[in-house]
Amino acid sequence: MSQQGYVATPPYSQPQPGIGALSPPLRGHYGDPSHSAPPSGIMKPAGPLGPMPPVGALPPGPPNSGAHQFGQNGPNISGFPQQRFPGPPPVNNATPPYPPSSHLPPASYPNPVSSSATTQLGHQLGAMQIHNYGQPPGPGYPPQQGPGMASGSPGIPSPPSGASFQGPPQMPQPAILQPGPRMLPPPPSTHNGLGTGPTLPPASRQDGLPGSGPPTANFPSLPLPGQPPGPGYPPQQGANYGPPQMPGAPLTSPPGFPGGPAQMAGPMQPPKKLDPDSIPSPIQVIENDRSTRSGQVYATNIRGQVPPLVTTDCMIQDQGNASPRYIRCTTYCFPTTSDMAKQSQLPLAAIIKPFATVPPNEVPLYLVNHGESGPVRCNRCKAYMCPFMQFIEGGRKYQCGFCNCVNDVPPFYFQHLDHVGRRLDHYERPELSLGSYEYVATLDYCRNNKAPSPPAYIFMIDVSYSNVKNGLVRLICEELKTILENLPKEEQEETSAIRVGFVTYNKVLHFFNVKSNLAQPQMMVVTDVSEVFVPLLDGFLVNYQEAKAVIHNLLDQIPEIFADSNENETVFAPVVQAGMEALKAAECPGKLYIFHSSLPTAEAPGKLKNRDDRKLINTDKEKTLFQPQSNVYETLAKDCVASGCCVNLFLFPSQYVDVASVGLVTLQTGGTLYKYNSFQKHLDSMTFLNDLRNDVQKITGFDAIMRVRTSTGFRATQFFGAIYMNNTTDVEMAAMDCDKAVTVEFKHDDKLNEDTGALIQCAVLYTTISGQRRLRLHNIGLNCSSQLADLYKSCETDALINFFAKSAFMAVLTQPLKMVRDILVHQTAHMLACYRKNCASPSAISQLILPDAMKVFPVYMNSLLKNCVLLSKPEISMDERAYQRQLVLSMDVADTQLFFYPQLIPIHTMDVNSESLPAAIRCSEERLSEGGVFLLANGLRMFLWLGGSAPPELIQGIFNVPSFAHINTDVTSLPEVGSPYSQKLRLTINNIQQKKPYSMKLMIVKQREQPEVHFRQFLVEDKGLCGGASYVDFLCCVHKEICQLLS
Ligand SMILES: [Zn+2]
Repeated sequence: MSQQGYVATPPYSQPQPGIGALSPPLRGHYGDPSHSAPPSGIMKPAGPLGPMPPVGALPPGPPNSGAHQFGQNGPNISGFPQQRFPGPPPVNNATPPYPPSSHLPPASYPNPVSSSATTQLGHQLGAMQIHNYGQPPGPGYPPQQGPGMASGSPGIPSPPSGASFQGPPQMPQPAILQPGPRMLPPPPSTHNGLGTGPTLPPASRQDGLPGSGPPTANFPSLPLPGQPPGPGYPPQQGANYGPPQMPGAPLTSPPGFPGGPAQMAGPMQPPKKLDPDSIPSPIQVIENDRSTRSGQVYATNIRGQVPPLVTTDCMIQDQGNASPRYIRCTTYCFPTTSDMAKQSQLPLAAIIKPFATVPPNEVPLYLVNHGESGPVRCNRCKAYMCPFMQFIEGGRKYQCGFCNCVNDVPPFYFQHLDHVGRRLDHYERPELSLGSYEYVATLDYCRNNKAPSPPAYIFMIDVSYSNVKNGLVRLICEELKTILENLPKEEQEETSAIRVGFVTYNKVLHFFNVKSNLAQPQMMVVTDVSEVFVPLLDGFLVNYQEAKAVIHNLLDQIPEIFADSNENETVFAPVVQAGMEALKAAECPGKLYIFHSSLPTAEAPGKLKNRDDRKLINTDKEKTLFQPQSNVYETLAKDCVASGCCVNLFLFPSQYVDVASVGLVTLQTGGTLYKYNSFQKHLDSMTFLNDLRNDVQKITGFDAIMRVRTSTGFRATQFFGAIYMNNTTDVEMAAMDCDKAVTVEFKHDDKLNEDTGALIQCAVLYTTISGQRRLRLHNIGLNCSSQLADLYKSCETDALINFFAKSAFMAVLTQPLKMVRDILVHQTAHMLACYRKNCASPSAISQLILPDAMKVFPVYMNSLLKNCVLLSKPEISMDERAYQRQLVLSMDVADTQLFFYPQLIPIHTMDVNSESLPAAIRCSEERLSEGGVFLLANGLRMFLWLGGSAPPELIQGIFNVPSFAHINTDVTSLPEVGSPYSQKLRLTINNIQQKKPYSMKLMIVKQREQPEVHFRQFLVEDKGLCGGASYVDFLCCVHKEICQLLS
């Protein structure tokens, strides 16, 4: 394999850059790449992350075969000056970037995210009354200003432009909903701090305060007026979706909730209308974080630090922990014991996106090459060298941060320590000073000890009648000519190393020989689809640039060859099988791009029948609709993963295609599923082509296997994502692209140590687009605490929702949907009740108190509960539900945030002369206005909603028509009008789109016209049209359950 890539780019040798002047990507190498033989003594299991040299069998370190050293003691790469890795500079001059030990005492970490006081929501049964208090931190509660936080009023954003459409000005924080005096019903709709409620001490943050009782204390008996004291509430085992373990009736959701129309039941009277402005607003939380943290440099030098929200733009600097672009956690402080974890029911999870793209102003990953010695690893637990390893005995040994084993430093890796015990080359080696970096893998990490071949892409086009008829086949063939010119390649390479191949199919398969020396492409038909084989090897997978003429010839001919085809039936599993066999025969990993339209009903393995059975909806059998109807697909997925074959599926269904079955192969091979319902060339081409272009060009790791290691006391127990698991530890992905995230849940198996924290190392072994085998490492250290309050203040709501969405969407395969929803509601109440009980100041039970870092958790959770995967809606097909389920399973935190709380922008308040956008508004109908125009995006869909009396000049500016009535809604893109409005709006749409993995189809919706119903389901704070509670109702429901738990 070519090693040129390793030396072609500027090597590691910049001086330490200052902030804002980061060095360009450095992909230098440290050693002589011309090694080929594996070090003797290393056993090589094919399974990658596993190639674990037996203890003591580390290569004896060929007495400095020179090349693998670098830095001060090592020989230089000939021709290059002394390489110096620009170690991360300190963020603040005042503090060194690293303490001598990476273990910071927990007390030293600031919590910049949440500085305002705990949110309190008071709720008196039967009568709600709201007061807003802009209160200072109470006595004894020091203000928790994070670094860089404006010292003014972090909780009070300036009213956004267009505030007139947003109702009253946003409330100052903390939001407190106080009950009115219980005995004296307050005057209706009194708010804004008239002081009728009891003035409780402000429940500010509990930082530093011990919990109010021992962690195992029972919930107190605080009888609610009119309610008998309930039984004690036993801690529920995490979200295991087993049978509910809650005792009895008091804890079940009120009738009709959340499955049906929201209504309060039981002892609760229908509440008076609660002012939506006084319940926590996601928009305000987003804006607050932006105002305090955007545009800043976020350095990862502090363990357990809560990063900026996913919605905040800032520059991230790796100083020893992985960037939040790669890893986010549900909480950055783990409880020390499993009892505490059970008590709080906060899931302990990390959302890992190993191939995340980083913006151009951040440094890409450094590549470390130890030559044939390979990466330095702990003898016992096999963790890779990282900042969590502690060097001792003058640098001759190091103690592993994960298993505490003391290892000898391999001779080639020896370095002296400085006066604080840090290696002198600390800042010259990425693996000692950075949270994320890559290693060049040795042959031990390759299949069959052989360097891999570059991957191949196989394009497989369904040429059945409807696809030819609607122009799709021609469209794909035309587009491929452009796409193939832009196959991904390493920066330093002239052309892409990826080979390409072509197959068409209906109920038989056609393979094409496109060898460069042919005058014409040759077609070979495989009619036996029961046991498909690849009829040609030579000439099937070719280098595009070499065979361009033949390929173009083929792409011109395909639409003609099948122009008169009347074949309606298709096969599917044999297509995947054929692609996989071709990759296997070529001994390379790769991706299949399958363009498919119909239910595969032709006689063949994986033949499917239409089972779109609405009778099963809302029954215990509904879960079967999410399962594949034939086990052929599971077997196929397993075989594909074993061959490094990733299946990307582009579906163009006009009716049921059984996404749950055909999509499974895609899901389990790390592929992406795209779906264009009732594809119409003039409306849907752009969306599809953008997706296709984007997908082909994505940075991808092939034939990947991921292992998550942890320090002692806890371990990874569950994995969710577009992954395949053959055992309990190795996460296999035929490919993993830059948009895929794996959510990992952790459980205790012992007590955690507050001093050493909880350390996580994620290693992904993969093959690059040019066929190099590499290891990508991401390390992160979290804090541990025996105080529940520390957990709650280190939470990240967006990450929690990602975890809950994925775990629930996995659970729908095996559990009735109602049970899944109930468990989500119970766990929400339980987490909040535990906080209330153990962390909040004493207050009336009728107050709902939310931890600051989780104050918008309920609105997101309610949106999740209303999602069509968990709640069937008549207008949404089973295929659509299976599709959304699959997409969410591989989403990262930013994607689930937007998906469950869409961005809604008042376009009419847009200042065309300003760079910035109007602040988003809350997703509720009452935030819309007749005179406005609003843009809504959730990552899959985009809507432009036009109020009935939108200003004509705005309509003219956007659509170039004189009035509302003239607007043509049968379009999926906006015309280029040339007006400032038009330009700014189209730019805005592009910007929103750009960061997202799926191309969002735009729909123009006029107020009070029928298609509005599609738009309204995204107004997630409102009651669902076909069930699903409003935010306010959900909050009441959760509060009721909390009261029951506490009573
Ligand atoms: Zn170890």
